[in-house]
Amino acid sequence: MRHLIWFRTDLRVADNPALHEASAEGAELQAVFIACPGQWRQHGMAAIQRDFLARNLMALSRELAALGIPFTLLEADTFTEVPGLLGSLVDEQGIDALYANLEIGINERRRDQAVQQALSVPVRLFNGDCVVSHGSLRPRSGDMYKVFTPFAKAWLAQVRASGYRLLPVPCSRGPALEVTPVELSDGQVSSEAWPVGERAASRQLTAFCHGQLREYGEQRDYPDAEGTSRLSPYLALGVLSPNQCLAAVEAELGYLPLSRGEQGFTWINELIWREFYRHLMVVYPRLSMNRPFKVETGALKWSNNHLSFELWCRGRTGYPLVDAAMRCLNETGWMHNRLRMVVASFLTKDLHIDWRWGEDYFMSRLIDGDLAANNGGWQWAAGTGADAAPYFRVFNPTTQSERFDADGRFIRRWLPELAAVPAKVIHAPHEWLTRHGMAQAYPPPVVDHARSRLHAIAMFDALKDRQEAP
Ligand SMILES: Cc1cc2nc3c(=O)[nH]c(=O)nc-3n(C[C@H](O)[C@H](O)[C@H](O)COP(=O)(O)OP(=O)(O)OC[C@H]3O[C@@H](n4cnc5c(N)ncnc54)[C@H](O)[C@@H]3O)c2cc1C
Repeated sequence: MRHLIWFRTDLRVADNPALHEASAEGAELQAVFIACPGQWRQHGMAAIQRDFLARNLMALSRELAALGIPFTLLEADTFTEVPGLLGSLVDEQGIDALYANLEIGINERRRDQAVQQALSVPVRLFNGDCVVSHGSLRPRSGDMYKVFTPFAKAWLAQVRASGYRLLPVPCSRGPALEVTPVELSDGQVSSEAWPVGERAASRQLTAFCHGQLREYGEQRDYPDAEGTSRLSPYLALGVLSPNQCLAAVEAELGYLPLSRGEQGFTWINELIWREFYRHLMVVYPRLSMNRPFKVETGALKWSNNHLSFELWCRGRTGYPLVDAAMRCLNETGWMHNRLRMVVASFLTKDLHIDWRWGEDYFMSRLIDGDLAANNGGWQWAAGTGADAAPYFRVFNPTTQSERFDADGRFIRRWLPELAAVPAKVIHAPHEWLTRHGMAQAYPPPVVDHARSRLHAIAMFDALKDRQEAP
């Protein structure tokens, strides 16, 4: 028996259900990855994420070679060519079955259907990206929970009852092989600041659990505190699995915190948000087709001012925390969660720009770009999503800044032109800069927050009027 394991966003040999099942009956194994640069461009994948993927693929290639599993790297421009390529490989290598882990995007699911139809051998798909399989948590009525809290309760009940499954690395298939070189990065942007491979990810996970996990609930909102795990790039490409996250928490604490109030629970809760967005995407394909979860919000009248969008992208809005966050994203490819919420709220509720513009911009810059989390986060901030922020609750970018970067340390790191501004005025520095003859150094606020907020609320109120009209 020869089994082909097709790696996609599951770039790991440990806790990989498809690899585990493929190797279960002692079959000979062959591995493949299909690079799709044209498709990645269509999906707006960031250059830094592409570089990170290439480097992680090289690490995977090494792991497979050490296990004696031959690895082939193929290239198709888009998903359309994939069934043909796999068909040829299956025929040439005498493959008996194809194994892969599910991907949730609609294009990926259509690609997999086309592969299933085209191949003469069985195609076996597994859940490798969630602790609880997509589609297994259903409310009494309907296909899927539309609010996070009942979803989280059901998720916790299931994990309490059934635990989680951590799969071992398969046994070696023979002597170590030569490593297949991976040359995929176009070298535009380097991801070197992030170590690669599942061993590095696992070390980072252990260090986080040993270090910040216990204080996570208190520290996670302060962008300068390094209180979060920074594991998102690894989870997004499947270099790390959520089961491995649970296992590391359990190993550190000696128990798995599955109840609110238990130490470590707040972090588990974030992993549940991750699963909530993934489950939603499977049930509502419109979410990966640029459409809002709340269908009626498709009629919102966004202003879509190109100049304001440009100022937001470049970090020149005159709101220091927003600008520092955007410049951090542009330079590093990563942004703290609190800042993602602040800049997304600012784009949609202060500049009244369509959340899809922000979603695309994030995707084009993030090293951890993830369709479900990015879409979920943007729709949450814009008020168009499942369990979104209520539309009348609009983040105030200045008070957010005073609360979460009180001494302005994060702001100063990214806005060197504000280095001399005292902490008490750094959150709204325009007047101080003008008084000190430095008004040229940094732009005045692009909008008045109080007025913009009222306009945002009126945009949503107008939707109600539409619904109520006969
Ligand atoms: C507008 C917006 C866009 C976002 N885009 C992405 C994205 O493209 N990719 C991405 O991975 N996350 C995204 N997030 C979620 C979150 O901001 C990041 O996952 C988090 O900042 C990553 O940092 P961390 O690894 O230190 O997280 P931690 O706080 O250590 O959390 C651990 C893990 O839980 C998951 N997680 C945490 N918070 C969330 C959340 N709110 N929603 C879903 N999953 C979460 C991530 O996988 C994260 O790595 C977005 C949030 C917003 C508001």
